[in-house]
Amino acid sequence: MTLVGKAAPKDSLVVTGARVLDPVEGIDAQVDVRVDDGVIAAIGTSLDTNAHRVVDGAGLVLAPAFVDPHVHLRTPGREDEETIASGTAAAAAGGYCAILAMPNTEPVLDSASVLGSLLELARAEAEVPVGFLAAITKRQAGAELTEMGELADEGAAGFTDDGRPIASAGLMRRALQYASITGLRLALHEEEPSLSKDGQIHEGAVSAELGFAGYPSVAESLMVERDLALAAYEGQPLHLLHLSARESVEALEGARAAGVQATAEVTPHHLCLTDEAVRSLDANLKMNPPLRGDADRTALIDALRSGTIQAVATDHAPHARHEKEVPFEAAPFGVTGLETSFAALYTHLVEPGLLALELLLERMSAGPARAYGLEPPRIAVGAPANLVLLDTAASWRVTEERFRSRSVNSWVLGRTLNGRVKTTVADGRLVFGE
Ligand SMILES: [Zn+2]
Ligand SMILES: [Zn+2]
Repeated sequence: MTLVGKAAPKDSLVVTGARVLDPVEGIDAQVDVRVDDGVIAAIGTSLDTNAHRVVDGAGLVLAPAFVDPHVHLRTPGREDEETIASGTAAAAAGGYCAILAMPNTEPVLDSASVLGSLLELARAEAEVPVGFLAAITKRQAGAELTEMGELADEGAAGFTDDGRPIASAGLMRRALQYASITGLRLALHEEEPSLSKDGQIHEGAVSAELGFAGYPSVAESLMVERDLALAAYEGQPLHLLHLSARESVEALEGARAAGVQATAEVTPHHLCLTDEAVRSLDANLKMNPPLRGDADRTALIDALRSGTIQAVATDHAPHARHEKEVPFEAAPFGVTGLETSFAALYTHLVEPGLLALELLLERMSAGPARAYGLEPPRIAVGAPANLVLLDTAASWRVTEERFRSRSVNSWVLGRTLNGRVKTTVADGRLVFGE
């Protein structure tokens, strides 16, 4: 697999006096970190700055930068909503050093030629390294498998029909067999379409009261169970995208205990909100899968804590303003998230004591990296510098003007959040700094 960023000179800098927190390396200490030409060269107290740029980290936390395994860059086809340049700039502002992009573009990334041109574009304009997942089926139509071998040779980061399920179990089984030959992950959007149908929000008390068509949890969990059964039968790994329901978590837990190599991700919005929030009828709370109930949210948080779910993924899904500024029922599914994920999770999970900061940092960095077989970012001498500097005491209001993304359909728009990304170093380059 190939992760590609802009070809640009690496930076040299020293971050002084920060609380350096790397849960993977087992570091929690107030030390300086020196980066020479993009590589971590020294960790210690009172380091010689070598005339490098000095970043004052006093009162701040320095951690391995984040990895987002689920981003919609809308390129090619909807560059009005996001481009590789704008999406990766948003990622840099969110503390990310690497992201993986989804193939549901126009045209769909289902051939080596589309992938090749995207990798070329990323080489010209990506602020942080980006990898591209290719489609499982041609045009994501769910009928015919893509040329997975060719796509893997060209540098695909994995395979997914995200946005749509693989409705046919037989095709899903063959996809597992072919993906295994490439060594790349299959990542699955789990939705039984005859159950989710025209569902607008989670099927429950809120959908009944508001009179919206419901999208029941079982529409997700049934497909999760099917695919875990297929993965067990074929002895192949898989990755479950954006889990939302308690029943899905239970199925995953059981399968992992039985030895299935399944990983999973959860979004900030599913960790922070429930369907009660949808009463506001804000179209920026409309996403697929939908926000679910309190027991679902609790199960997701517990699973993230226990490691049943390894990764936080934003499912950053930009939409044009005119498409979201319509009645709830008419709005498309999806919300942005790259620039606010840390602050949202710090505010909703860490501050109330639901998740330790160290654990959140691991699930936003090493967890997602490992799920796709990427080298986890780490703070160690000799490692490429992938660093995020965080101000956990900062409080800020999320406004449109702050966004580097081309779209503003954020579920936290207008809210005040605690915790802020101050500086991001991605693959040895200072890509964001306040
Ligand atoms: Zn999806
Ligand atoms: Zn998605």
